[in-house]
Amino acid sequence: MRKAEPFRIKMVEPIRLISREEREKALTAAGYNPFSLKAEDVYIDLLTDSGTGAMSDNQWAGLMLGDESYAGSRNFFNLSQSVKDIIGYNYTIPTHQGRGAEQVLFPLLIKKGQYILGNMHFDTTKAHIEISGGRAVNFVTEKAFDTTTGYDFKGDFDLEKMEAFIQDKGVENIAFILITITCNSVGGQPVSMQNMRAVSQLGKKYGIRVFMDAARFAENAYFIKRREKGYENKSIVEIIHEEFSYTEGFTMSAKKDGLVNIGGLIGIKDDEALYTQARSALVPLEGFPTYGGLAGRDMEALARGLREGVDEAYLAYRIGQVEYLGQRLLDGGVPIQTPTGGHAVFVDAKKMLPHIPAYQFPAQVLANELYLEAGVRGVEIGSFLLGRDPETGEQCESPLELLRLTIPRRTYTNNHMDVVADALIAIRERAHTLKGLEFTYEPQILRHFTARLKPVE
Ligand SMILES: *Cc1c(COP(=O)(O)O)cnc(C)c1O
Repeated sequence: MRKAEPFRIKMVEPIRLISREEREKALTAAGYNPFSLKAEDVYIDLLTDSGTGAMSDNQWAGLMLGDESYAGSRNFFNLSQSVKDIIGYNYTIPTHQGRGAEQVLFPLLIKKGQYILGNMHFDTTKAHIEISGGRAVNFVTEKAFDTTTGYDFKGDFDLEKMEAFIQDKGVENIAFILITITCNSVGGQPVSMQNMRAVSQLGKKYGIRVFMDAARFAENAYFIKRREKGYENKSIVEIIHEEFSYTEGFTMSAKKDGLVNIGGLIGIKDDEALYTQARSALVPLEGFPTYGGLAGRDMEALARGLREGVDEAYLAYRIGQVEYLGQRLLDGGVPIQTPTGGHAVFVDAKKMLPHIPAYQFPAQVLANELYLEAGVRGVEIGSFLLGRDPETGEQCESPLELLRLTIPRRTYTNNHMDVVADALIAIRERAHTLKGLEFTYEPQILRHFTARLKPVE
């Protein structure tokens, strides 16, 4: 039976579509960089799924029960209980968001010059590894880079490659292995249980610790239930327990599957010494161990959000909406990465705009055109994001030029998805007429956020 959203709407936030003329003005003022648009000038905002979701009535009610005591807030204990029930770990440390967890935990695990092995490290994760003196290396399966061939678990590690690396560099030069679920940087692609088990066995064989970057742990569990043999009849929480049985700790951005607008976590299974160290490190960086940069009310919203985020009807709706947008685009002949991942649809701008070279940023061109067409904001993941080679100053060419359409949780309906799909299908018709971009202002670092561009003559 066809199913609708497993919620009804009790409160609405008006959005508006400004006129085509106003959108043109807004984009020119923003230097052809949607990051610089005012959010109010955006009709449907698919910039990120981080902290942009809708909370439930139960979470909003929880806000009113915030215990703002500096130490020992009851909301901290509720949060710890949610983590214990859902993930099975003994020790919980709240942080202001995911990168807060990274900045506290990583320096405790990394000695200068050591490698941290991941499927594909998220950008702030890589940054905190490097700040701690470590070197981030990726071992995601080659299959992840082929956007058109279907494979159920494109977030998997290439275990042979990783083992060869361990043998080559020596165990003493490896700090830990970090499994990112789902693998954000390759398109929210899931990691299979079989692969996590094998990573854990490899860790045991060499005495290397294994941790989880757990932002989308529930979406990953849902994919395992749907796609991996032997899991079809297990509950989401059972699957999550098994996922986390293969690691000894995690960092989490709770702004994703935690269903809150702000928050993060460190979880430690049973290593009391590490927990004690992390608690001490937390105080000068994030705050006292029972609040870690969050208000009591924020911890309560998260304690409740974690439970809602593992509800199977919710996950079916969530992953189903991403699939819905993906399918509409495929049906309309728009090239996308398949299968669609957990939190976004990635349009292949290289295929859609083959006449625009990498150094004129085809996916950024597409992002701008989508805004002009329908007031929709997506984000470029390609050569514009990648930047220049720090030694030669040459523009690097990204293997993929993608426009990411990231879907906030419980925020938009499928009517909104239809607007996005119709706009991209219309753009496809005239794609050959679109022009590349060049810089009018290019900052030295993190240019993605503040650079200004203009169409080439
Ligand atoms: C979002 C994210 C982070 C960083 O978390 P913030 O809450 O944005 O600080 C780390 N890792 C992954 C996989 C993420 O998706």
